[in-house]
Amino acid sequence: MKIIETNFSWAQPLSPRKKTDKIVLHHAAAVSASVTDVHRWHLERQWAGIGYHFYVRKDGAVYRGRPELMIGAHTRGCNSASLGICFEGNFETEKMPEVQRAAGEALLAELELRFGKLPLFLHKQLTATLCPGKNFPDFSEKAKENPKPEAAAEAPDKWAAEACEWAVGVGLVAGDGSGNYAWRTAVTKQELAVLFSKFHSIEK
Ligand SMILES: [Zn+2]
Repeated sequence: MKIIETNFSWAQPLSPRKKTDKIVLHHAAAVSASVTDVHRWHLERQWAGIGYHFYVRKDGAVYRGRPELMIGAHTRGCNSASLGICFEGNFETEKMPEVQRAAGEALLAELELRFGKLPLFLHKQLTATLCPGKNFPDFSEKAKENPKPEAAAEAPDKWAAEACEWAVGVGLVAGDGSGNYAWRTAVTKQELAVLFSKFHSIEK
């Protein structure tokens, strides 16, 4: 899937996220809003800029908001360890178009490659809000069908333990949110490419 890169400038410096233990889903609570609109709204709240990591429009286009490894601003009390995805629309009153829902599923599948299987939450499950609305489709049901990664052979071999600890600490490797990192499973070329690109962004 294609994530459309944005080139936002941030009103305050962003901080790297040390841990990622969940994904939180939101709606824009606006029938029509571009990713730039959301960035502007959040700047107007004196935030650094758009607080979500991803923004999914009704036409299925997926935009980047906050850089993936930085702390977002979307769910009080949970920002330091979560990714936030926002969907254009007001799902208290509207239904989500199928193309938008499918784009959301594709984004979640891609994030799973990078972060492992993370528990999904609706914003309203974590704080007092209507977000993302009563008609928001149930992405989490689908997520529950997927088995958890094998916990067997979980600990890294001794010679790799220190490196593994470092990789988790700087956010290069993420587990499934329940302490499973699947250290001994093989890495695919696409996972390796993502790792190299993450490493590059840490170096900058
Ligand atoms: Zn929300």
